[in-house]
Amino acid sequence: MTSTTSFLELAPQRLSPGAAPCACVDVGGTKVAIAIATSNGILGKVVEPTATSGPQDALGQQIVRMVAQSCELAGVDRQSVQKVGVSSCGPFIKTPQGIELAAPNICGGLAGKARGLPNDWPSAILEAPLRAAFQSVRVANDGVGALEAERRWGALQDTNGKGLDNCAYVTWSTGIGAGLCIDGVVLQGKNGNAGHAGHSFASSNNDALCGCGSIGDVEALVAGNAIPRRFGHLGYQEAAALFNAYRAGQNQAQIIIEELCEIMGRMMFNLIAIGDISKISVGGSVFWHNQDILLEPLRRHALSRLPSLTNTVEIVPAGLGEKVGDFAALALVA
Ligand SMILES: [Zn+2]
Repeated sequence: MTSTTSFLELAPQRLSPGAAPCACVDVGGTKVAIAIATSNGILGKVVEPTATSGPQDALGQQIVRMVAQSCELAGVDRQSVQKVGVSSCGPFIKTPQGIELAAPNICGGLAGKARGLPNDWPSAILEAPLRAAFQSVRVANDGVGALEAERRWGALQDTNGKGLDNCAYVTWSTGIGAGLCIDGVVLQGKNGNAGHAGHSFASSNNDALCGCGSIGDVEALVAGNAIPRRFGHLGYQEAAALFNAYRAGQNQAQIIIEELCEIMGRMMFNLIAIGDISKISVGGSVFWHNQDILLEPLRRHALSRLPSLTNTVEIVPAGLGEKVGDFAALALVA
């Protein structure tokens, strides 16, 4: 099965006949996207900016309201939707009432007034309003959601279409994220934050301050939003400019990209060393649009040491391509 080329046939564009519709919710730092998966396909997509003002449960209430809108658009009776999958940016905290988001770009109470957010929330209440409105709710971080989608429909399956027992999904995008499956168990962690490898330490390089407050973690050094911050003064105001310069043969850009791949490749090596995993699929906009440049050095840096752990490991582009995010929430409920 060559899932990289055939995902459109493999992916469930529709639920099986007679299956109850369910809501697929994708929560990002800037927008919330919701659609209803039905036996007639995925319908009624609605998108809004992520709620960052009002009461502390504004985000959860926004999702409840948007599911109703999405149902109306899809021609689905809202009461028939009792299952909701939420794939969300993190990090999470768990409370007795459910999962809340503690994301610095959503919660004004974390970084203080200087950050300029129109709220003073210490966290954004996410799960409790959904539990009050639906029978079955599953919230997972977006790295976990993408991993489950890749295990189900993408590159992280065996030849019989069964999800691999030991694998990881890594995204190289505006930020860096991951999801890990070890011994057939998709890791969640005490607060649902397992796989936040982007915030693991890489270097004490002081030009690399992360949004989490750390200096020199992987995300701070290589993420899409780190490239202009670190290399804007060299003329790379966005990631695309750096890759264009590489393609034009510019030596400076080649040196920088090699450094980025060393950091990212070694993060992948760390995942392999920790989880003894057999395959990593890679997605995210920075990787996806530049995989012709990035894949070889990532493999070289991740797989060239400690052969007992690395020499059968595969690193491949995500089987679901740029649609991984679209299928993440569906994978949590379908
Ligand atoms: Zn960080």
